[in-house]
Amino acid sequence: MKKDDCIFCKIAAGEIPSGTIYEDHDFRVIFDRGPAAKGHALILPKEHYADIYEIDDDLLAKAAALAKKMAVRMTSVLGCDGFNIVQNNGQAAGQTVFHFHMHLIPRYKNDDAKMGWKVHDITDEEIAALVAEFN
Ligand code: AMP
Ligand code: ZN
Repeated sequence: MKKDDCIFCKIAAGEIPSGTIYEDHDFRVIFDRGPAAKGHALILPKEHYADIYEIDDDLLAKAAALAKKMAVRMTSVLGCDGFNIVQNNGQAAGQTVFHFHMHLIPRYKNDDAKMGWKVHDITDEEIAALVAEFN
């Protein structure tokens, strides 16, 4: 299904021009318009799923395989030194476009892309309490 007012549905369908570097039946891979580093690209499924909670399992598996294929190809073409694959879900996690996508971010020694998180302390008891929540 496509969603009428969704920009990534339109880009994935080719209705809005984009810098496309890969396309198949299920996906389009485009360059991000606000790149964190040279070559920052996005994997867009052609069907609309808002996020990881909605996306079909088989399609997600295909997206993961495509992420690997693109990382290999982009590393070869761009000569990057490392690679981040990022996928945000929900506003609290930094998602701004609510059509599932994976960020492919080539990284270069001394680039200024900022990624990561503040590290907090945790005790063995706190880890045990978290484990208990899953049992
Ligand atoms: P997120 O914050 O994970 O939802 O990522 C959304 C990404 O989409 C950001 O990195 C934006 O720079 C990018 N973006 C938004 N609109 C466009 C567009 N029209 N073409 C390409 N990239 C876009
Ligand atoms: Zn969409």
